[in-house]
Amino acid sequence: MNKIVLLGAPGAGKGTISELLIKNQKLVHISVGDILRQNIKDNTDLGKLANKYMLAGNLLPDDIIIKLVEHRLSCKDCKNNFLLDGYPRTIKQAEALDKFNKPTYVFNLKVDINVVIERLTGRRICNKCNSIFHVKNLKNEICPSCDCKLNKRDDDKYEVVKNRIDVYFKETAPLIDYYKNNKQLIEINALGNPNDVYSQIEKFLK
Ligand code: AMP
Repeated sequence: MNKIVLLGAPGAGKGTISELLIKNQKLVHISVGDILRQNIKDNTDLGKLANKYMLAGNLLPDDIIIKLVEHRLSCKDCKNNFLLDGYPRTIKQAEALDKFNKPTYVFNLKVDINVVIERLTGRRICNKCNSIFHVKNLKNEICPSCDCKLNKRDDDKYEVVKNRIDVYFKETAPLIDYYKNNKQLIEINALGNPNDVYSQIEKFLK
C-alpha cells in the first residue's frame, strides 16, 4: 500500500517529484492545485471562487477543500494507492485525512526558502502536457515535449509568491510537527536534482 502525502513549501518540487512518482509507480495523482486550475479554465463556480484565493496566494477554506479531496479519494482507484500533492495544507485537513484514509508515507521535501523564491518566479508550465520547467534550463519559452508556448502561473508573480510563503509558514509548516508526533514524517533533502530526490523517496515505497 502506497498512500503518499507530499509536504513542502511552495516551490519545494512537489509537482516535479509527483511527475516522477506517477511515471514510475502505480499511484493515483491528486493535486488540489491542478483540480482548481482546471475548474478556473472551465469557469465553474468552484473555479470562480478558487481564482480569488489563488491570485492572492491564499488557501481556500478547509471545508471546501476537504470535501473536494474526500470526493476524489472515495473512488475505488484510490483505495490503496494515492499520491496527494499539496494536500493537506492545514492541521484541519490533516485530521480529516487521518479519519478518511490515513496515509502510509508522509514525505517532507526540505528546501532553503531562498531557493524557493528563485524556483517559483522562474517556473514555466506547459498547459498541454502539464510539464514543469525553469527558465534557466530553457533556450526559449516553448515546451520541449509538445512544442506549445509555456506559461507562467499567475500565482508565481513575486508579490503572490511572498504571500504564499507566509501562508505556508503559518498554516502548513505546523504539519511537520503533526506528522512527526504521529511518527509518520520522512524528511527528504529536496535541494538536489529531481532524480536524486525521487531516489530518496523510492527506497521507502513497497
Ligand atoms: P499548488 O498548485 O499546490 O501550489 O496550489 C496552488 C493554490 O491552490 C494554492 O496557493 C491555494 O490557493 C490553492 N490550494 C491548493 N491546495 C490547497 C489546499 N490543500 N488547501 C487550500 N488551498 C489549496
